[in-house]
Amino acid sequence: MKIAVSACMLGEPCRYDGASKPVEVVGALKATHDLVPVCPEVAGGLPIPHPPCEIVTAERALRVIDAQGADQTDAFLAGARQVVELVKNEGCNLAILKAKSPSCGCGRIYDGTFSNTLVPGYGVAARLLRGEGIRAISEELLSACLQAAEAHGHGHKPPVLASSAQ
Ligand code: SF4
Repeated sequence: MKIAVSACMLGEPCRYDGASKPVEVVGALKATHDLVPVCPEVAGGLPIPHPPCEIVTAERALRVIDAQGADQTDAFLAGARQVVELVKNEGCNLAILKAKSPSCGCGRIYDGTFSNTLVPGYGVAARLLRGEGIRAISEELLSACLQAAEAHGHGHKPPVLASSAQ
C-alpha cells in the first residue's frame, strides 16, 4: 500500500514562502513504503510564493483568507479535491500531512486571525480526505507513534503504519 505525504516534507519547495520543510521521520519512510507526494495548494493553482493563508475558524462555513484579506477558499477547495482524487486513484489509505497548515493540518490549525493562535481543527485537504475515509495524521503524530513503538519494543513499525506496509 502507498502513503500520501505532504510534498514539502519530502523536500519540495512548495510552501507558501517558497521553502520546503523536510521531516526526517517522513523521508525515512521511503525505505519501506511507496510515498505519493501531494501539495493541495500547488494543485489548487496558488502561486509560490503566496501570502500566508488561514481558515477563518470562527465561521461555520468554510472560508480561507490570506494575510491580505483576499478570499482563497475556491483555490483551497479545488486543490483539496484534486488531492483526494489522486490519493484515491493511487490507492493510499493513509496520508501523513504537515501539521498546522490550512490545507494539510491534522488536529490543530491556526484560527484565521493571523495571530499565531492554534485551535482544534483540520486543513481543507485533510478534511476532504477524512471525509472519504482516508486516515490523515500529522507528522507530529507519526513521530509520537514511532517513539511509543520504540519504547514498547515494537521497533519502527507502529500500528498506524501496520496497514500501510508494502
Ligand atoms: Fe506542504 Fe501542504 Fe502546504 Fe503544500 S499545502 S506546502 S504540502 S503543508
